[in-house]
Amino acid sequence: MIYYRELSLDRASESRKDREWLEQQWARQQCRVYIVRNDKSLMCWNKRKQDTPEVIHFPKVEIENLTDESEQRVFLGLDRHGPMFALDVSDHDDEVLAAYVGDNEFVDLRDVGWLLDSEQAAQLAYARGLLFWNRNHRYCGICGSPTQSENGGHMRRCSNSGCARMHFPRTDPAVIMLVEDRSNPEKPRCLLARNSRFPSRMMSTLAGFVDPLESLEETVAREVFEECGIKVGKIEYQASQPWPFPSSIMLGFRAEALTREIVVDGVEIEEAHWFEAEQLREFGEWGDDGDYFCLPRRDSIARFLVNSWMNEML
Ligand SMILES: [Zn+2]
Repeated sequence: MIYYRELSLDRASESRKDREWLEQQWARQQCRVYIVRNDKSLMCWNKRKQDTPEVIHFPKVEIENLTDESEQRVFLGLDRHGPMFALDVSDHDDEVLAAYVGDNEFVDLRDVGWLLDSEQAAQLAYARGLLFWNRNHRYCGICGSPTQSENGGHMRRCSNSGCARMHFPRTDPAVIMLVEDRSNPEKPRCLLARNSRFPSRMMSTLAGFVDPLESLEETVAREVFEECGIKVGKIEYQASQPWPFPSSIMLGFRAEALTREIVVDGVEIEEAHWFEAEQLREFGEWGDDGDYFCLPRRDSIARFLVNSWMNEML
């Protein structure tokens, strides 16, 4: 399973261009709203279920006093219960929010994503990515004038009539790849590395952003060579994952190693090793205590790539 995919909401991408239709959706009694503050989503902890997090959304009527400003809200889509919006309260005072927050908490989806219902996790990821883009594109990159939200937050238009540039939410492509060494058919190995930003024992697949004028396969080959000094041959696409932390899509590949000697750059990558599938089985879980290596987070495509490879080898 790959998290944050297969959002089942109807995005209503044509209807949301109609301002009147959007206002009608916002006014509907069935309208529900996620609350997001500085990229964190409002959640509660279910004491009866070993403190697992649960997503909170409000009927719109309960938060009417929180905002009248369409600039702070984005339209996510429709499901069988009705319309769904997300509201950015990053600029609200604690005192104003207190009545709505209560015993609940603003939680980083990255810390709990895999503990949530997968559909709700996808909706929260969508809300977070869209609100992040809106909050960080308040000014036109061409002329510097303020921009205004349109299409339910799926487009921003420059308010300077002489410019009027339309800006759309951006997604930054990044590749992520499991490199395998099959030079000894009896003992296939995969390359995992520890980025200096990772927790101290976590080993994962290599990854990197696509440069301008670079094919995805070229990015895979360049990143593997830059980070670990390995040359790769055959490169095959595996799967993709939306990763709105803050605005990426991860494009997953498997690559065949042509060379075996690892040379880490020592800056971005602190260590890298070849592992057989049997060794990976001994790895701990992300976040566990222990001395041995651990696997990447369960909601990441890195984990999907590692698990897929391990299951094929064992
Ligand atoms: Zn402009």
